[in-house]
Amino acid sequence: MTDTARRFHIGTVEITLVVEACGPLLRPAELYPEATPECIAAQRGWLEPSLYDAASDRLVLAMQGFVLRSGGKTILVDSCVGDCKQRVRPDFDGMRWHWLDRLDAAGVAPQDVDIVLSTHLHVDHVGWHTRLVDGRWEPTFPRARYLFVDAEFAYWNSDAGRQALERTGDYVADSVRPVFDAGLADLVSPDHRIDDAITLVHTPGHTPGHVCVAIDSQGEHALITGDVLHHPLQCRFPLWSTRFCFDAEQARATRLGLLQQHAQRQTLLFPAHFPDPTAGRLRCVDTPDGPCYAYDFVADGLAGAA
Ligand SMILES: [Zn+2]
Repeated sequence: MTDTARRFHIGTVEITLVVEACGPLLRPAELYPEATPECIAAQRGWLEPSLYDAASDRLVLAMQGFVLRSGGKTILVDSCVGDCKQRVRPDFDGMRWHWLDRLDAAGVAPQDVDIVLSTHLHVDHVGWHTRLVDGRWEPTFPRARYLFVDAEFAYWNSDAGRQALERTGDYVADSVRPVFDAGLADLVSPDHRIDDAITLVHTPGHTPGHVCVAIDSQGEHALITGDVLHHPLQCRFPLWSTRFCFDAEQARATRLGLLQQHAQRQTLLFPAHFPDPTAGRLRCVDTPDGPCYAYDFVADGLAGAA
């Protein structure tokens, strides 16, 4: 497989995007309660075709992981849906994405990964934490320390968290617990510092222990934003939280703060589910219903491209 991964450089840190899947996935109203057909129809000019598929009335969403190379270490942020997992959603159930082949084509073998972490413990962010070997779920990255944010891990092990797993299928059992059983897990605080350039930032709301990953090197700034934003519609409509948010009010407050801060700072953002090229910067715009943001995609480099 040829290397078609997209790469960006933030000072001395390299960010490689390794996509598992991308395509029309959820109807707007399935994700956002406020997304009426009239509202979406009014936005079709900028949404189609790359961000919204009108034929199926579905938002185009990516599943991907972010490989950071920093100070000689290889760090994986978010590990997608995974292969062969039993899931409630048919789009995720028993899939064979062969994402490891794409990771390999991007120059990363499982034993190269030093640190694995998730922005949050949702089904589409922990899948490749494990893989099926001889009928058992084994950690995919045998040399890595897997970091789990303490508040996030505690929630998914509480009664409320375990109940919430019924919506998706119990991915904690097949994708998180085997990592603990293998002795590869470390609990960290939501403001944990990975190295001089990479720090976690607590951004609660979508889940209780949700974190973004800030990369600051040589005066350049990037932020892997996890699911604070699912789709560029939330830049145009910053008040929209998703139906999947643990605390919609808190998610809204977190998102508003993040949008304001990083529009001002011109941070390069990497939202988990934005389709290729994913990266982009925020721009303040005035609309008849008040100020909001446009998301300007930035296509930095494409490995393997002529
Ligand atoms: Zn997600």
